[in-house]
Amino acid sequence: MLTDRFGRAIEYLRLSVTDRCDLRCAYCIPEGFKGFEEPAHWLSFDEIERLLGLFANLGMRRVRLTGGEPLLRRNVTDLARRIAVLPGVDEVSLSTNATQLSRMAVGLKTAGVTRLNVSLDSLRAETIEKINGRPVLDEVLAGLEGASAAGFAPIKINIVVMRDNADEVDAMVDFCLQRGHVLRLIELTPMGNTARKMGYVDLQPIKRQLQQRFGLIDKVMPGGGPARYLGTADGRFTVGFITPLSQHFCATCNRVRLTVDGQLHLCLGQEDRVDFRALLRNGATDDDLIAAFHQAMNLKPERHEFREQPEKLIRFMSMTGG
Ligand code: SAM
Repeated sequence: MLTDRFGRAIEYLRLSVTDRCDLRCAYCIPEGFKGFEEPAHWLSFDEIERLLGLFANLGMRRVRLTGGEPLLRRNVTDLARRIAVLPGVDEVSLSTNATQLSRMAVGLKTAGVTRLNVSLDSLRAETIEKINGRPVLDEVLAGLEGASAAGFAPIKINIVVMRDNADEVDAMVDFCLQRGHVLRLIELTPMGNTARKMGYVDLQPIKRQLQQRFGLIDKVMPGGGPARYLGTADGRFTVGFITPLSQHFCATCNRVRLTVDGQLHLCLGQEDRVDFRALLRNGATDDDLIAAFHQAMNLKPERHEFREQPEKLIRFMSMTGG
C-alpha cells in the first residue's frame, strides 16, 4: 500500500485518456483554446497498462477514466478492458459528458466499466449552450437513456453549480428522482481565469434547503470519492455534495491523477508532479517506476489552496483530468 507523508493511503487513480473535448464548458476549456497536448506525447495503451499494472501491485484499487472527454480517445473501450483485468484493480469507472454515450454504453459495460458519472449542468437547452459551449442537451439525454438501457445503475449526474444554473437544483432533483439517478452538486473550482468568472455558489445553504425539503439523512455510497451524501430514508433519492471550497476534503484524499502525457499529479490544486512519460520513454525498469511511485508519495501536498490563493492555478480541469 502506498502511503503519503500525512498517512493517507493512495488507492485511487484518475486517468486522463485525452485532454481534448467536444464541449467548451466555460469553466473548463475556454473557447478558442489551442494548447492541447501533442499526440506523440500521449501515453500509449501499452504504456498505460504497464504503469497501472505496477501501480495496482502497490495498492491502487480503483481507476476512473476521464479527460477531456474520455469517449473521444479512439478504442477507449479496449483500454478499459485491459485495465479492468489487471490484478488488484477492483473497479474501473468513467466520467463523461455523454455526447457519445448512446452508441458506446453497451461496449463500455461489456469492457468492464462498472460505474458512470455523467456531467449535466442544466436541463434547459439554452443554458447548456451557454455553459457548455455547444447545443448538446438532446445528445446527452439520449446518452443517459442508452446508459440506463445498458444496465448502468445508479448513474451519478454531476452538475457544477454556478450563477447560470443555481436556480435549477430543484428541477435536477426531480429529474434524478424520476430516473433513479444519484445527483451530485459540485462547487465551481477556480481553475483558470474562465472558471473564476462563472460565479461561485456556496453549496452549504443549498444543502440545508434540500435537507429540509426531503428530510434527508446521512448516507454512504460506494466509490470512495470526496462527495458527502444525503438521502431519503426510503432510499428513493440520494444527493452528493462535492465542496472543495466551502468544506474541503483534503484530509481524506486517496487519489492521484495521471495526465494524457504521463504526468502524475499529486493534487488537483498544486503543481507537484512526477514525469512518468520521461521515465517510460528513457528505458526505466519496473523497479525504477516502482521507486518513482514511492517518491511521488513524498511530494503529495497536504491540501489545495483554492480558497487562499484562487489565482494560483493556471491549469484547467481538462489538462489534469477532472
Ligand atoms: N468530459 C468528462 C465529463 O464531462 O465528465 C470528464 C472530464 S470533466 C473535466 C470532469 C468533471 O470536471 C465534469 O463534471 C466537469 O463539470 C468538472 N469540472 C471541470 N472544470 C471544473 C471547475 N472549474 N470546477 C468544478 N468542476 C469542474
